[in-house]
Amino acid sequence: MKKLLIANWKMELNEAETLDLVLNYKKRLKKITQVEIAFAPSCVYLKEVKNLLGRTHLQLAAQNVAAQAKGKYTGEISAAQIKELGCSYVIVGHSERRIKMNETDDMVNRKINQCYHNDLIPILCIGETLEEKNSGRSDSAIVRQLQAAISKVDGLPENELVIAYEPVWAVGTGQFLEAENIFAFHRTIKRTVSSLYSEKFYNDKVRLLYGGSINSIIAKDYWVSEVLDGILVGGASLDIEEMYNVALEGE
Ligand code: PEP
Repeated sequence: MKKLLIANWKMELNEAETLDLVLNYKKRLKKITQVEIAFAPSCVYLKEVKNLLGRTHLQLAAQNVAAQAKGKYTGEISAAQIKELGCSYVIVGHSERRIKMNETDDMVNRKINQCYHNDLIPILCIGETLEEKNSGRSDSAIVRQLQAAISKVDGLPENELVIAYEPVWAVGTGQFLEAENIFAFHRTIKRTVSSLYSEKFYNDKVRLLYGGSINSIIAKDYWVSEVLDGILVGGASLDIEEMYNVALEGE
């Protein structure tokens, strides 16, 4: 499996800005062949972005998905609809949704099930808050989130899973967990996933990403980490040169 770079554009761009960014990335990222790249624009632009990406190797990700398959859920977007729009991936359980939209572990689990029912690969975000970190509960927070998210999931262990370890205190703050400190978290994540499924599943089907204030200056340390399979970038992915340089470090 290739290393993976996800660009999460959150709710930052209007239509013209989104399409302009995509057109520029199409040109700028042509040389990047060793890293798989997926863009996560606002859902209202998914179709237009897909059309612009055309036959390039660039992939599309949704930022969220409904926990339900279909029905009377005003304002929600189902996994089937996201699949229809041409997405390969869906970000699930991003800390901004867990904290600001009250998304629970149970909802995250149901969303992951919806992804697999519709042939979408979930990018499961997990990570401890500052309070959990400061009170020595980082590990237990991650274990709780992982167990709740991927226990009793129909599509596992047959399918791929992407886990984005994103300490909440590092997302969008300019603070980051240094690459050499990822090892302990990797051990916890691998142990938890392996005990739910198997070590073989973890080795063959799981890609572990780091996310949290990555920029082009520090990206290399994460790309070369033997326990990481990619990076999830927010802010830096809105800047063409920054994103290009982050991707280039992974080549
Ligand atoms: C994110 O959106 O998940 C993220 C990691 O953002 P940033 O890179 O801006 O911290």
